[in-house]
Amino acid sequence: MASTKFIPKRALLSNPSRTLSTTSNPPSGLKINSSRLWESIHQTCNQWGAAHRYGPHPEETGMARLTLTDDDAHARRWLADEVHKLGCSLQVDQMGNMFARQAGSLRSSAPMIAMGSHLDTQPRGGRYDGVLGVMAALEVLRTMKESGFRTGFDVGLVNWTNEEGARFPKSMCSSGVWAGAIPIEQAWDLRDIQNPKVTLRSELERHGYLGELACSSDPATGYPLGAHFELHIEQGPILQETGRSIGVVQGAQGYRWLKFTVHGRDAHTGTTPLSARKDPLLAAARMIAASNDIAQAHGALASTGVLQIPSNASTNTVASETTFTLDIRHPEDSVVHAVQDACLSAFGRIAAQDGKGVTFDWTLDTDSPAAKFDEGCIGAVRDAAEGLVGADGWLDITSGAGHDSVYTSKHCPTTMIFVPCRDGVSHHPEEYCRAEDCAIGTQALLEAVVRYDRSMVEKS
Ligand SMILES: [Zn+2]
Repeated sequence: MASTKFIPKRALLSNPSRTLSTTSNPPSGLKINSSRLWESIHQTCNQWGAAHRYGPHPEETGMARLTLTDDDAHARRWLADEVHKLGCSLQVDQMGNMFARQAGSLRSSAPMIAMGSHLDTQPRGGRYDGVLGVMAALEVLRTMKESGFRTGFDVGLVNWTNEEGARFPKSMCSSGVWAGAIPIEQAWDLRDIQNPKVTLRSELERHGYLGELACSSDPATGYPLGAHFELHIEQGPILQETGRSIGVVQGAQGYRWLKFTVHGRDAHTGTTPLSARKDPLLAAARMIAASNDIAQAHGALASTGVLQIPSNASTNTVASETTFTLDIRHPEDSVVHAVQDACLSAFGRIAAQDGKGVTFDWTLDTDSPAAKFDEGCIGAVRDAAEGLVGADGWLDITSGAGHDSVYTSKHCPTTMIFVPCRDGVSHHPEEYCRAEDCAIGTQALLEAVVRYDRSMVEKS
């Protein structure tokens, strides 16, 4: 970090001519307007969804802009106005995904190079998760427009509907439909968790966001993308702890969610010797502890978020049954599977360990394979980061969370750019990304898109 190659961010942003670059693929020469970016983030948040104040400054609140609420619809209409002012075309698909497009100089009909994220938030969310990615994309388009800069291929912005899955419970919902992973009827029929009479489709209709365009990556019917770049806060502590400004995202880790039910027998705790018991709660506790040891040995994550015993359990009775969840994660699917296998065999041993033993069964509730992002997109971000912050200012990183980019990566070259957020806090009102980090991420987004476009023009 204390290397001479590191360029202080403020110096960099006030003097872009100091940026390092490779001669073959130099910087764009453009400079994003960091105060306009900051204002766009906070003025829209202040008006539409600000909640959970935690400090005296105007931007010291969290957000509650749930998808397809009136606040979300206002923010969408504002975004539509802004992209129209730039001369972009705007199309809305059947899931309300918004695709704004700025024509390139080649007048090519090829799918646009997209910069996407989401404007919706958690009910106790912050001002940066998703919002930064959309506002950064808008700032890149504004910067290009005002400086008369044209990419070769079309570039644009995507606002994905219901990424959070907080109001209509399915996360990455509309990128999932676009990618063909979630049937549209199922997505349309999602119910507002507060009011089951309201469906996602009825809210799309109410706000005029039920578009005619098919929600699909199919060029014949939908809106295919040539590439997808997403700027996002890291939502973890790694960049801050390592003193880096930019995370070059390699992919998203795979995960499997398993549910275990351990069967025993209820028994009197005073009269039943330990040797005569079938105690499922004791076994479950040992299994959860073992899963943690196994995960550590594999460099993976294993977590139990739900542990249930029958509601009529009592202090002086051994429980009859225990269920618990297990969430296993790692960037390599093979490691996720190895952790699962090791857990199953350890659990088998544990089941026979105490008293008269217990039995257990399990189900696989979710299987989300690891996503590997595109080398061409990653290379464009890496070159951009190298030019902006030098070799010690960025690092390769894997996303721990799901994002719309995980779905787009199945159908177009994709990557993400991470910027640090304070203490790694996210999905919390105090989520915070410094203005200079928002700016450097947005500049990296611009440079990466310009570089990627250039490489596509060279290939065409
Ligand atoms: Zn997000």
